Amino acid sequence: MTQQIETDVAIVGAGPVGLFAAFELGMLKLSSVLIDALSEIGGQCTALYPEKPIYDIPGHPAIEAGDLIANLERQMAPFRPATLLGRRVETLEGTQGGFTLGTDRGESIRCKAVILAAGAGAFGPNRPPLAGLSAYEGSGGVQYYVRRREDLRGRRVVIAGGGDSAVDWALALRGIAASIQVVHRRPKFRAAPESAAQLDRAAERGEVEMVIPYQLHALHGTDGKLEAVEVADLDGGTKLLPADVLLPFFGLSMDLGPIGGWGLDLERHHLKVTPATCETSRPGVFAIGDIATYPGKLKLILQGFSEAAMAAHAIHPIVRPDVALHFEYSTSKGVPAGTDAAP
Ligand code: FAD
Repeated sequence: MTQQIETDVAIVGAGPVGLFAAFELGMLKLSSVLIDALSEIGGQCTALYPEKPIYDIPGHPAIEAGDLIANLERQMAPFRPATLLGRRVETLEGTQGGFTLGTDRGESIRCKAVILAAGAGAFGPNRPPLAGLSAYEGSGGVQYYVRRREDLRGRRVVIAGGGDSAVDWALALRGIAASIQVVHRRPKFRAAPESAAQLDRAAERGEVEMVIPYQLHALHGTDGKLEAVEVADLDGGTKLLPADVLLPFFGLSMDLGPIGGWGLDLERHHLKVTPATCETSRPGVFAIGDIATYPGKLKLILQGFSEAAMAAHAIHPIVRPDVALHFEYSTSKGVPAGTDAAP
């Protein structure tokens, strides 16, 4: 039998931005249901880097991704949003006075507005084109995410890539990995400038070895056990880096999954939104976080938080057309008493 769920707002995606949207909606006295294809809340933070410190969340000089998600869960808890995990939202249909979403488990969620906080959709790592790669992926010799730093204690680690993940992990594994070598094609990193500067300082102190300008060339080992990573310079000269684990960080590939077929305006696999409201090309359907795009968009959690607040305020008149929304700062008024979120 189809399970029917009624709510003011359905939020597709329980990543950091979807969780904060549930809080913002709660503050405006709107109910919500969170739906996520993964079996845990937290999106990329939980699935890809729960132990990586995040340095650019306002008010937290450093916070591990898993702790940020735990805090967001506590923050939204007073509003008790229903959370449906392990379900992929497959369909979105307009109905009288709102929308109906259908999941792959047969649930149907009726709501007056929709927030798509679906991140990179069904995300997956970009894999380097190396012969025999899958044998090393299966054995843990090549890993695209570090779930537990401790698993790399005492291991010789080669990190490849020039973005935030490569830089952040090179810094985070100091004092844990036996050695850290960073392979990149050029001296400049596409990372937060302060993190890149920290990496330079770590290299000067000998905590990290920079292998530049080189790129991955081949993997060496036996029976899936990695022994060395071969790298090549721009002239084709090669050298071997002894290694137990290779961490290639070449970004994530985007696949919007079913959302791509819902007729919403797209720009390079992202949903185009009106920046002031985060409304998509379909009235009543909003997109926030990594999935949304507009001029000046930054794929940062903090920007997603701001988008969650803007979308919640834009949704209020849709759900409660008869109730004037007076802008207020957060106070004990908004949060149910007796919870740890209430002052
Ligand atoms: P996501 O976290 O991607 O969550 C989206 C959720 O939607 C997923 O759980 C997915 O399962 C679900 N979903 C998608 N489609 C469906 C569907 N059809 N049905 C049901 N569920 C669906 N950002 C920073 O600000 N600072 C950092 O230091 C930082 N470091 C990073 C390090 C790494 C290694 C990576 C990969 C990213 C980092 N980011 C960082 C980026 C940050 O993680 C993202 O900006 C953030 O996760 C986006 O949040 P989100 O809620 O929009 O999407």
